[in-house]
Amino acid sequence: MKVLVTGGVGYIGSHTCVQMIEAGMTPVILDNLYNSKETVLDRVEKLTGVRPVFYKGDIRDRAFLDQVFAEQDIGSVIHFAGLKAVGESVEQPLKYYDNNVNGTLVLVEAMLAADVNSLIFSSSATVYGDPASVPIREDFPTSATNPYGRSKLMVEEILTDIHKAHPEMSITILRYFNPVGSHKSGELGEDPQGIPNNLMPFISQVAVGRREYLSVFGNDYPTVDGTGVRDYIHVVDLANGHLAALNHRGKTAGLHIYNLGTGNGYSVLQMVKAFSKASGVNIEYKIAPRRPGDIAECWADPAKAKSELQWQASHTLDDMTADTWRWQSQNPTGYPSK
Ligand code: NAD
Ligand code: UDP
Repeated sequence: MKVLVTGGVGYIGSHTCVQMIEAGMTPVILDNLYNSKETVLDRVEKLTGVRPVFYKGDIRDRAFLDQVFAEQDIGSVIHFAGLKAVGESVEQPLKYYDNNVNGTLVLVEAMLAADVNSLIFSSSATVYGDPASVPIREDFPTSATNPYGRSKLMVEEILTDIHKAHPEMSITILRYFNPVGSHKSGELGEDPQGIPNNLMPFISQVAVGRREYLSVFGNDYPTVDGTGVRDYIHVVDLANGHLAALNHRGKTAGLHIYNLGTGNGYSVLQMVKAFSKASGVNIEYKIAPRRPGDIAECWADPAKAKSELQWQASHTLDDMTADTWRWQSQNPTGYPSK
């Protein structure tokens, strides 16, 4: 069975393709390279010995999608393609609704036309808004505080309606907590364009000398040391969660929602300390004001994915920091352009 992987050249998608190939699956990648470089495919080939079929194009281009479905015998779609910068989404909401919401509509229309009824969608813990308590279960109330989060929530709601109208479909919504880390080879990793928004790539760019210091956004939260607490999950564990969802969907049509997290929370300062230990570099940091929209703490109850998908995260915090450092130190400026 071939699996169409939209956004498969990106950070999470590329790691998922490697895990899929190693498990004997055949990913077909579709990506417009808006936030990624084609040289990622050289690395996937180097690691697996297989160069996945790659279609360069946009999920909003219906004729292009029809061509891909006509040429390839696709059984399932894993839909990673999307924009993910929260700050940019506040400044340019239309761009986010067009890419993330409209793009998914066009994709699902093309799937229905091609009789492909299995979809795995990349959602985010951001749909829980500011949770009343932690750990967070899948049945907690949802809300959004910015257009990025709202685009994820809208897609979740649209997919729920689509499933009601097409109950033969298998739709799996995966709510990721905080993906970090890299393939253990150091060949694949996170390569943000411009100034990183997220904590881990920022810390690793400080460690490698690309940035002077980390701004710690707030040290007056009601947490272990005053800094924000998150559930960091190794990207290879996350990738394996998609394989578990793919295997499960073979058995059941339905609408399924799972948290993909570890169930552990770490503070910003705990992450800084762990990264300093892994890299042997002292990470300079300064306390800065809180970042608007941030919450104090957020971590998953991953029990549902464990019992239904037989999936759980296995990488430790030391794995996450060591693997990130291997990627960053071997590729200080990210992937090559050519
Ligand atoms: P990424 O930017 O590395 O990968 C996304 C890929 O999609 C990129 O290669 C980009 O070029 C491609 N793309 C974007 N719009 C497209 C379009 N219209 N047509 C075709 N390709 C398009 O991001 P990632 O970190 O790998 O995230 C993957 C998915 O997971 C996204 O939907 C993101 O919102 C979601 N997610 C990410 C995080 C995170 O922290 N990384 C957390 C929760 C959810
Ligand atoms: N953070 C920080 N400095 C940065 C980036 C992030 O202190 O340069 C903090 C942020 O306030 C939050 C945590 O690190 O408490 C994780 O932030 P990230 O943006 O990686 O993920 P998210 O906020 O989406 O959970």
